Amino acid sequence: MKTHNLGYPRIGSNRELKKACESYWSGKTSANELQNTAASIRLFNWRLQKEAGIDLIPSNDFSLYDQVLDLCLMVGAIPERYHDVILDKSNNELDLYFAMARGYQKNDLDITAMEMTKWFDTNYHYIVPEFHKNQQFKFFSTKIVDEFYEAKSKEILTKPVLIGPVSFLLLGKEKESGFDRLDLLDNLIPVYMDVLKKLETRGVEWVQFDEPFLTLDLDEKVKLAISKFYKLVRKEFPTLKTLLASYFEGLKDNLSFAVSLPVCALHLDLVRNPEQLMEVINLLPEKLSLSLGLVDGRNIWKNDFQSSLEFIRKAQFLIGNERLFIAPSCSLLHVPCDLDLESKLNPEIKQWLAFAKQKIAEVVSLKQLATTPSPEGLKSLRENEAVNNTRKTSSLIHNVKVKQRVNAVTASDASRQNPFLIRKYKQQQSLGLPHFPTTTIGSFPQTAEVRSWRAKFKKGDISEQEYERLLRDETEKTIRWQEEIGLDVLVHGEFERNDMVEYFGEQLEGFAFTQNGWVQSYGSRCVKPPIIIGDVHRPNPMTVYWSSLAQSMTDKPVKGMLTGPVTILQWSFVRNDQPRSQTCTQLALAIRDEVADLEKAGIKIIQIDEPAIREGLPLRKSEWKNYLEWAIGAFKISSSGVKDETQIHTHMCYSEFNDIIQDIANMDADVITIECSRSQMELLDAFADFNYPNEIGPGVYDIHSPRVPSKSEMIGLLEKALAVIPSDQLWVNPDCGLKTRHWEETKRALIEMVEASKEMRKSL
Ligand code: GLN
Ligand code: ZN
Repeated sequence: MKTHNLGYPRIGSNRELKKACESYWSGKTSANELQNTAASIRLFNWRLQKEAGIDLIPSNDFSLYDQVLDLCLMVGAIPERYHDVILDKSNNELDLYFAMARGYQKNDLDITAMEMTKWFDTNYHYIVPEFHKNQQFKFFSTKIVDEFYEAKSKEILTKPVLIGPVSFLLLGKEKESGFDRLDLLDNLIPVYMDVLKKLETRGVEWVQFDEPFLTLDLDEKVKLAISKFYKLVRKEFPTLKTLLASYFEGLKDNLSFAVSLPVCALHLDLVRNPEQLMEVINLLPEKLSLSLGLVDGRNIWKNDFQSSLEFIRKAQFLIGNERLFIAPSCSLLHVPCDLDLESKLNPEIKQWLAFAKQKIAEVVSLKQLATTPSPEGLKSLRENEAVNNTRKTSSLIHNVKVKQRVNAVTASDASRQNPFLIRKYKQQQSLGLPHFPTTTIGSFPQTAEVRSWRAKFKKGDISEQEYERLLRDETEKTIRWQEEIGLDVLVHGEFERNDMVEYFGEQLEGFAFTQNGWVQSYGSRCVKPPIIIGDVHRPNPMTVYWSSLAQSMTDKPVKGMLTGPVTILQWSFVRNDQPRSQTCTQLALAIRDEVADLEKAGIKIIQIDEPAIREGLPLRKSEWKNYLEWAIGAFKISSSGVKDETQIHTHMCYSEFNDIIQDIANMDADVITIECSRSQMELLDAFADFNYPNEIGPGVYDIHSPRVPSKSEMIGLLEKALAVIPSDQLWVNPDCGLKTRHWEETKRALIEMVEASKEMRKSL
């Protein structure tokens, strides 16, 4: 039996890589200094895994920005617009790499970055490869070989990790029509063969091919392509040991296909799909080894040794130790580095958790427990059992009242008192808004100054009263300014919030927070997801103070601003001792209480943001229905406890609604604000084709750029919207919150936006 790991977090235990990259980008440090930091993180990670006792340690899992971008460079998939960067003799491979990741503005060149998108159902974003008809590839960046060699020179024989060519093609986008990117496989294969040749001559024993698409819905063409590649590898490199990694889901209907591939070992995610173990074993060809992904690479809970051992024993009994690997379920990229660094976490909670370093130790312990029984082993098994048992009964986790309340939820809790048209009439009477009402999505600029107040308050440099006074002044200024330029529905500005999930988590029971639990989101950007440890409830109102304060400053309606249950769930580490749907319902009830209190406090419009509903969609289409039922249900529980006159808004900042438009309509928000301007309002077609009945605010300008759009530009977009959506359904607002913008451009853009709406009214 062997242990292995699929990938280790590369940001460094103290986000060393983030700091090194940002300092290099700002010109403060040299490329050499950056490369030195990178090398020391790699060495640290390799040694940590070696000392823990991992048999096959990954290399090429490190990346300065993103592993898919690395692969683009490896195979020379470099979009043409970067060729000028290469031609400039003063640039090197690193400059090209970061130009592709972040865009390039220098010496009259202004080149956009490559697109980013979410890595399967994680919160990690990868760079999307760009493909053209008849594209040729060549072995360009030798990173994978260099890093293998680098580890070898430190006496660590690693297992290089490489995304398989078919998954690579599927991850990308066709940048012109008239071809299928899978047809590029024949051009791509020779590069992979070159790479494998180089690795083999350097003494590589094992190579890990990641084919995450193996767990998705696949058509025959994809399967043929995958099998073509692995057959060729077997033929050209008969002695190379190949491990094929699937993760994030079970193989399900691709199972018999996966076991038929001529590889040496197949990795299964047994956390996401434990049932597949027996199914795979039943079909397993004699020569194929199995890697059991038992330690959760997507969550921070301590492993349950007893239950993992049951899996291992079954597999041992049926196929023997020789053909078994023990591993995390997927790369550890998605969990924080080291729990030992958490000095402030409640010890009762801390004992339930494991981050990357601890998970590595768990993998090794599991092998020892399964192969070399010893008194110490037995002791650690008992300890593990005892700790995990405390979770089953701890009062930090279990709250009878919350559980009872969830069980008592009925269909009527998830439905407004009257249909939309009745509510619309009553809301018109009560709010008296004009046609094309103007509003914003919630946050106003979180300037360095605002952030410095929070930092000072946290450090104890300013008192709570002082901190509040500063925030109050900022809020008042923002209210006055919104009145002045004539916005119809105001917001308080969200200055008191650090983050749209953390702010709520901090005020809810059932959450824990880390000091250093950073996870890479993209490039140098890291997030510190809260941990939902127990039953969630809301002991006190969370936003009523700021919303009613803001409302007291003006006669115009001020929107209350909340984060929805699905988004809080999606952007946190969640419990693994109950279904996600249950946790989500608890969150929904907490938000429902807040909505009720806002209404009581005289807030007439309440927005519940749900930007994460779409990304929560399961990887397999067959599971969408179930997810959408409880996710949309949770939104409705959170939003339905109000009277008809209270107007519920929701906001989503993504761009694809076609396949879930029915579910969006089921949410029955009185107003939905969406991202639209970048697609020139084309996104509205989904709503128009569906005859979407409720009101819509299609974003009329892109807040992700400092560019100030003109009034006429926005009128153009509104006219396009008006061509497909009736005027009494349309709102006028930006794409998303303004927290990352400066006041300068925000003011100019919103003034133009209000003017655009006024023009539109005149034309009615
Ligand atoms: N209300 C939030 C804001 O304006 C919404 C953010 C989001 O959609 N991601 O910042
Ligand atoms: Zn948004």
